[in-house]
Amino acid sequence: MHVSAAFESGNIEVVEARAGAIDLKIRPDGNAEYFQWFCFRLAGGAGAACDLRIVNAGEASYTRGWDGYRAVASTDGEHWRRVPTSYADGVLTIRHEGQADQVKYAYFAPYERTRHHALVAHCLASGRARLSVPGTSVEGADLDLLTFGAPGEGRRVAWAIGRQHPGETMASWWMEGFLRRLSDPADPVARAVLDRAVVHVVPNMNPDGSFRGNLRANAAGANLNRAWRDPSPETSPEVWHIRNAMEATGVDYCMDVHGDEALPYVFIAGSEGIPSLTEHQTKVRAQHDAALQRANPDYQTAHGYPGSARGKANLRMCTPWVAERFGCLAMTLEMPFKDNADAPDPIYGWSPARSAKLGEGCLDALYAVLDDLR
Ligand code: ZN
Repeated sequence: MHVSAAFESGNIEVVEARAGAIDLKIRPDGNAEYFQWFCFRLAGGAGAACDLRIVNAGEASYTRGWDGYRAVASTDGEHWRRVPTSYADGVLTIRHEGQADQVKYAYFAPYERTRHHALVAHCLASGRARLSVPGTSVEGADLDLLTFGAPGEGRRVAWAIGRQHPGETMASWWMEGFLRRLSDPADPVARAVLDRAVVHVVPNMNPDGSFRGNLRANAAGANLNRAWRDPSPETSPEVWHIRNAMEATGVDYCMDVHGDEALPYVFIAGSEGIPSLTEHQTKVRAQHDAALQRANPDYQTAHGYPGSARGKANLRMCTPWVAERFGCLAMTLEMPFKDNADAPDPIYGWSPARSAKLGEGCLDALYAVLDDLR
């Protein structure tokens, strides 16, 4: 049996292979201490059961993320199922059941650059989107910006961004749902939205970290979702460029898409702690909550992060910074790595398909609040 992570999004190191067990370690993000994302291939393991033991799991960034967590595995790179996983004494143990000679294991279904390019091509082929590259990452990767609809008098300006944290691949699957609807000329909601709004989408804010198999950092070790107040063209150019693009367009709505390691729910963290919070921002957020719950019952409001007190928001984060700067509706959408505990799926847990459905539902919610954004 052979374990390797020497491929895009790969992350694992082999410590020791013994009879019936392989000890592994997750490699921290380069120039940073974060780690939780793993993705590796086990070759030559058909018919041979084996424990895959991640022995540094107890030092990972979010150890509560391992409670009740099950890893995903795939034999074809397309379909990812949950596999038996346990966490005890700082070790995450994934049970390899000998299903095939090639099995990939990951923290969540990975999302690679080839698929991103195909998604961009799909959007462009619809004739409804334009592609621009406002800048590049630390390592020179393109920051793709898809723009749907044309700017014009009285039109709303909506933004959606994903993968600031590269290990949160569910954000990319969410993007597939959101972008496929916007690209569908037969979708009446997409048509109605684009009649009245321009929608700017950055599917991947952190292409370097995604490629490297990082959890939270870019290639310079920066946590991009702490760079919005003072982005640096050297260490956080990804935020620098997209923030400049937002300044050029203005923002009436911003959805920043993430995954949460610990909480088994879909929830939104808002901007209630910003210094200049308005009654209108609070009201439209409540309208959006109700609309998203109707559009997709995976979304709920009972569980989430405690809201910041007035004036205590962290303006280094995208959502509070955008809400404060533009006085608009801005939200951080969190999807689970584990499952939705209110509607669990024993085979797949929270999955790419459910992430995409949530992305579809978010277009309905945007439509519902479009006329009330200002
Ligand atoms: Zn995140």
